[in-house]
Amino acid sequence: MEKIQLLIPGSKIKARVRELGREISLDYQGLNPILVSILKGSFLFLADLTRAIHLPHQIDFISVSSYGSSTHSSGVVRLLQDLGTNIEGRDVLVVEDIVDTGLTWRYIRNNLLTRNPSSLRIVTLLDKRERRVVDVPVDYVGFVIPDRFVVGYGLDYQERYRNLPYIGALEDKREI
Ligand code: 5GP
Repeated sequence: MEKIQLLIPGSKIKARVRELGREISLDYQGLNPILVSILKGSFLFLADLTRAIHLPHQIDFISVSSYGSSTHSSGVVRLLQDLGTNIEGRDVLVVEDIVDTGLTWRYIRNNLLTRNPSSLRIVTLLDKRERRVVDVPVDYVGFVIPDRFVVGYGLDYQERYRNLPYIGALEDKREI
């Protein structure tokens, strides 16, 4: 069993998600955006965020997997499940758990841009900014976090810990 150090308590996540919801509701006033959740990591964030956005919107899902080890992004992304919605002319807001190197978001962004959305932005709960290797725009950020491997609130380590109601860092984590 790994040791987990509390990084962001559930109460802080709750408050921040409410703020993000308010900000997004203001920015998208009069529009009917579609929230695109990147599975699996963002499922809890999406569930809370959708209830904090007080305007008509839709949700859809995309599932990707990153080749490579569970703690290092290779930047090579495989599309496991595509959207069920045509996003041409739509205002698309991608909902992500974490932007780390930025490679996954760059891949998804380029992929979605080929479908000619009216606008395309991202809201990420966590931003591991110091690890960024590609310059890709990130529009809404819940928390900027240090370079630690985090779990909880949807994020996993080998499919475990997604159910934790807080964000924690794996202690003594040996990189694989
Ligand atoms: P990027 O391509 O930006 O390096 O990585 C994005 C993806 O890597 C995230 O969607 C997530 O699946 C995974 N990832 C990056 N950092 C972490 C982390 O600290 N914890 C977990 N559980 N996943 C991470």
